[in-house]
Amino acid sequence: MKADLHNHSYFSDGVLSPSEVVRLASDAGCDLFSLTDHDTTLGITEAKDEADKLGLSLVNGVEISAFWRNSAIHIIGLGIDIDNDALQTGLEFNQALRLERAKKIALGLWRSGIKDALEKAQKISGGHMLTRTHFAQMLISEGYCKDMKSVFRRYLTGRKPGGVRVEWQDFNEVINWIQSAGGKALIAHPFRYRMTHTKIKKMLVDFRDAGGDGFELVNANSSEEEISIGNQWCNDYDLLASIGSDFHGWPNQRVQIGNLADLPNYSRAIWSYL
Ligand code: AMP
Ligand code: MN
Ligand code: MN
Ligand code: MN
Repeated sequence: MKADLHNHSYFSDGVLSPSEVVRLASDAGCDLFSLTDHDTTLGITEAKDEADKLGLSLVNGVEISAFWRNSAIHIIGLGIDIDNDALQTGLEFNQALRLERAKKIALGLWRSGIKDALEKAQKISGGHMLTRTHFAQMLISEGYCKDMKSVFRRYLTGRKPGGVRVEWQDFNEVINWIQSAGGKALIAHPFRYRMTHTKIKKMLVDFRDAGGDGFELVNANSSEEEISIGNQWCNDYDLLASIGSDFHGWPNQRVQIGNLADLPNYSRAIWSYL
């Protein structure tokens, strides 16, 4: 089974259209694919049309920002009804937070001498939803930093000029939005939050106790060790396993759609439960 259930289009911080992303998935030989833009489902209708043309199975998806005990994390919703009111009201809440944050980021950058950041980032986003990635791309293209890693570290996190704290909803709430829309809720990329394994395990147990369904066991950057430890956690905590590349299509990004290690244990694979 070749599945890739975590991908972005230009409706959030990816650079390709939903159709282009779906075509790449089809060319890569995916059997199952999901578009999971940040806090929006606007790309899904186009993705579905293209997937139908190509005979590719598309799972409706989204990646929602949330809090777990004051840490910002991402929750993937899969198999969602995109017309569900509870889900869309939640996504609108996050979209408003994002706009408010973008203005604060621009103000912080302005204070450190970087002018017109909002307008420039908006231009890069093509008028779609603004993310920090658009500010990052703008700062790189204006020569302030050489790559994504350094631009986040020097400008867009913590007490840096464009570092802004966002009060995302608690993950209990986000699980509700997703499950109200008939979807499964999964923690995205658990090894990417700079948490110790002890803390990740606490998060997974809390998530399971809050009714969450599973986590992304395999992504494009997973090591063999992470997959093996994560598989153990799936068994220990009775959680489902998902798989996705987190493809954005950025220049220099090595991540390719559908180019992933296999899930180690199909009995817990999310696709059997969608
Ligand atoms: P946002 O959702 O607007 O806060 O932006 C977060 C997105 O920025 C993530 O989904 C990643 O795509 C990207 N991102 C965050 N931190 C980094 C980093 N250190 N290097 C590269 N990309 C990052
Ligand atoms: Mn992203
Ligand atoms: Mn993410
Ligand atoms: Mn993502």
